[in-house]
Amino acid sequence: MEISLKGQVALVTGASSGIGRAVAEAMAAAGAKVAVNYHSQPEEAEKVVAGVESAGGEAIAVEADVSEPRDVEAMFATVAQKYGAIDVVVANAGMQKDAAVAEMTLDDWRKVIDVNLTGQFLCAQAAIRQFRAQGQRPASKALGKLICMSSVHEVIPWAGHVNYAASKGGIASMMKTLAQEVAEDGIRVNGIAPGAIRTAINAEETEGEAAKALLKLIPYGRIGVAEDVANAAVWLASDLADYVVGATLFVDGGMTLYPEFRGNG
Ligand code: NAD
Repeated sequence: MEISLKGQVALVTGASSGIGRAVAEAMAAAGAKVAVNYHSQPEEAEKVVAGVESAGGEAIAVEADVSEPRDVEAMFATVAQKYGAIDVVVANAGMQKDAAVAEMTLDDWRKVIDVNLTGQFLCAQAAIRQFRAQGQRPASKALGKLICMSSVHEVIPWAGHVNYAASKGGIASMMKTLAQEVAEDGIRVNGIAPGAIRTAINAEETEGEAAKALLKLIPYGRIGVAEDVANAAVWLASDLADYVVGATLFVDGGMTLYPEFRGNG
C-alpha cells in the first residue's frame, strides 16, 4: 500500500517554519504540488520551495496574512491559477501571545483570535468555494480536503494562554460544524491536535530543564517533532483516510490521556 498525493495540489499556511514547513515537505514527498504560504519570512519560504524542487517536486511560495480577507482571496487565486486547482488545504498558521488573564491586553486577545481562528475560517471558506468551483478531480476520491491545525489545548485548559486556548477550542467546534455542513458535497474536513512538538512557537518550553518537566506530561516519553504531525497530515489528506470526516487526530504522545493518573491519581 502506498500513500500518494500524486496529481494533487496542497496549500499549507504558515509553511515557512515548524509544523507547516514539515507538512509542505511531506506532502511534496508524497507527490503533491505544494503552495508554501508565508507571512513574514520570504527567505525561509523560498528555502522550502528550493528543497522541494531539489527533491524533484514542484512548489511555490505565496505571501498572505491569513487574518486578512483580501490576502487570503489573492493567495487562493494565485495558487489556483498556477496549478489549475487546489485539492488539499492545511490551515496551519498560528501564533501565541501569552499573558496572565489580568494582564492580557485586548490587542493580544484579538491578534491571536484573528490569526488562529478567523484566519482558519477565511481559509476554510476560500477552500470550500474553490473545491466546489473546480469540481471532482481524478486524483482524489473527495471533492477536496481541509485540515485544521488545532492543538491539545482544544481540550486541555491552559492557564496563562486564554487567547490561544480559546482559539483552539473555537477551531475544534468550527471544524466539526464545517465537516457536517459540507460532507454532502464530498468535502472532508478534519483536524489535527498536536501535543508538544519542538518548533519556534515553544522553543523555551521544549529545551533543557523545561523539557524535563514537559516530559512528565507525555506518556510516550518524548517531545514530538514536526514530522510526526506532517505524517498524520499526509495520511488524512490521502484517499486512505477517505471515510474520515469531522475527526480530530491527536498527535500528542498520549498527552491527552490524563498522565497524572498514572500513579493512581
Ligand atoms: P511556528 O511558529 O513555527 O509556525 C507558525 C507559522 O504561522 C509561522 O510560519 C508563522 O509565520 C505563521 N503565521 C503567523 N501569523 C501568520 C499570519 N497572520 N498569516 C500567515 N502566517 C502566519 O510554530 P508551529 O509549532 O509550527 O505552529 C504551527 C501550528 O501548529 C500553529 O497553529 C500552532 O498553534 C499549532 N500547534 C503547535 C504545537 C507545538 O507544540 N509546536 C502544538 C499544538 C499546536
